Amino acid sequence: MVRCPECAVEIDLDEDEVEEGEILNCPECEAELEVVQTHPVHLNVISEDEDEEEAEAETEGEDGDMPDEALEDEEEDIEE
Ligand SMILES: [Zn+2]
Repeated sequence: MVRCPECAVEIDLDEDEVEEGEILNCPECEAELEVVQTHPVHLNVISEDEDEEEAEAETEGEDGDMPDEALEDEEEDIEE
C-alpha cells in the first residue's frame, strides 16, 4: 500500500500499473505526486510553488542579512 507523502492517505495503487516519472494526483489532498520508484512504489510530492530557496532561507538566514542569491555559498561560510 502506498501512502500520500503529503496527507498520508492510503492510495490504492498497483505498482505494475505505474512507471517511474509518472505523475499522479492524490485523491484526498490533490497533491501532485511523482512516481520516483517502483517495486515498491515511492511517491514524491511535486510542490506547486518551487520556493525552495525561501524555505532554506528561513532556517539558516534568520540571524543574518545574507542575500538570497548567496544561498549556495552560505553553508560554506557558516561558522561552527
Ligand atoms: Zn494526499
